[in-house]
Amino acid sequence: MAFLKFLGTAGARFVMIEQLRSSGGIWISSKDTNLLIDPGPGSIVRCAASRPKLDPTKLDGIILTHRHLDHTNDINVMIEAMTEGGFKKRGVVFCPADAINEDPVILKHAFNFPERIEILEADKNYRLRDFEFQTSMRHIHPVETFGLKFNLGATSVGLLTDTKFFKELEDFYQTDILIISVVFFEPHPAIDHLCLNDAEEIIRSCKPKKAILTHFGRTMLRAKPHIQAAALTKRLGIPVEAAYDGMSLNL
Ligand SMILES: [Zn+2]
Ligand SMILES: [Zn+2]
Repeated sequence: MAFLKFLGTAGARFVMIEQLRSSGGIWISSKDTNLLIDPGPGSIVRCAASRPKLDPTKLDGIILTHRHLDHTNDINVMIEAMTEGGFKKRGVVFCPADAINEDPVILKHAFNFPERIEILEADKNYRLRDFEFQTSMRHIHPVETFGLKFNLGATSVGLLTDTKFFKELEDFYQTDILIISVVFFEPHPAIDHLCLNDAEEIIRSCKPKKAILTHFGRTMLRAKPHIQAAALTKRLGIPVEAAYDGMSLNL
């Protein structure tokens, strides 16, 4: 059975720094592939604390949507885990070029441990064993950032990571389940993140079977994500859920 588990639902720096929510990223297990998306601070701790436990030595791949610390802090320790301390060359890391260029988030020490490092580019298809995914157009965010689309079982899933709102997002993220990073409760046009109104517009236009809000900043947490999700469900007639740390979807 395929599943997706939220090891963290923290968004941006203050919720991460205070660990008001965990920042462990998302674990995905498909038929014969385990992968981790955006291992932020504490990802390894959240794997060990998971019930049932998630074993990072069983990872086949790690995807970084972008180089920000809340998405990459635990990448090196996760590479060590995936490669059994660096002794077993295995696994693939996918990341945008600027994550490993002049100020690499992957230490030199760990760089040659995986089988390969694949550079993510806009609108491309990638494959890791039985798991295929597609990158979005480049998001509007201070660093190179791509969202993802993939199938788990018979369900298509979109992972709309950090970005400023722009209309074309609605063309790409037409999936059965749409996971959206909603950092702000109110609009903050000067900062390249979505607010709740943006998420509402995207859900209205993309019409997923279910939308899941995650990656909450402080203002979203204060506004109680589950209450906001219930209000959106009512307004849109589409089920909207607020992710919580440890939440799993079985697909
Ligand atoms: Zn982020
Ligand atoms: Zn970011």
